Amino acid sequence: MQFNIQNYKNILKLIKSQNYNFIEACEWKKKSNIKKKIIILRHDIDFDLEYALNIAKIENKLNIKSNFFFLINDEYYNIFSPQSEKILKKILNLGHYVGLHIDPSRYDNINFNKNIKRDIKYFGNFYNLKINSFSFHKPTIYNFSKININFAYHSYNKKLLKEYKYISDSSMVFDYKLLNDLVTQGKKIHLLIHPLWWTTNSNKIDSKLNEVINKKIETLNHIFYNYKTLLKSININKSKKKFLYHLKLMK
Ligand SMILES: [Zn+2]
Repeated sequence: MQFNIQNYKNILKLIKSQNYNFIEACEWKKKSNIKKKIIILRHDIDFDLEYALNIAKIENKLNIKSNFFFLINDEYYNIFSPQSEKILKKILNLGHYVGLHIDPSRYDNINFNKNIKRDIKYFGNFYNLKINSFSFHKPTIYNFSKININFAYHSYNKKLLKEYKYISDSSMVFDYKLLNDLVTQGKKIHLLIHPLWWTTNSNKIDSKLNEVINKKIETLNHIFYNYKTLLKSININKSKKKFLYHLKLMK
């Protein structure tokens, strides 16, 4: 299967054709006893926010609400930067839900649960949101055994994994036939989609990641160009004098 926008739209259309309800991740428990067809559509955002926005727009056009999980403590993007803030707010305005994507290797063993709570609070406070859900980045069995939080949704909750059939596109492996079977049988589904795989042009992991790298280089060039232009426009001697003058006034 080619990983591109058209095929992602086909996946969404397949699910919609069977009248599935797309729910907020934290609602899974409430909905697990309902006889309706339920799907949690989840996006873990690993490298770049713009791919997330592309997917958010596509889904919005199809009247679909999904769950976006963002990292706050990784190297790839800064969720608190002005540009990220704009994108995240756009995603929210399109009607989607937001949760925290967590890299568990960042937390020490003793404060593991405390730090998850701390980061959820910090993220929620900044965006004035109640964060009810979190998912794991690079999960291992070892991580799950350390979780001791009674949270509305976390991606590897044992009961959730029992009651909802989990299927993902991790490492660009996606079993379309399995999804097709689950949807036709009307099973409850927990679907993880990484926007990056579907919204970049090539069809190999390496070249897709290279696209991301080139995009990052472009962004950095732009940021530094703006900074250099600013430096050129400043008369340092004049600014220093002004600064010293105001400093004196403050005394
Ligand atoms: Zn991840």
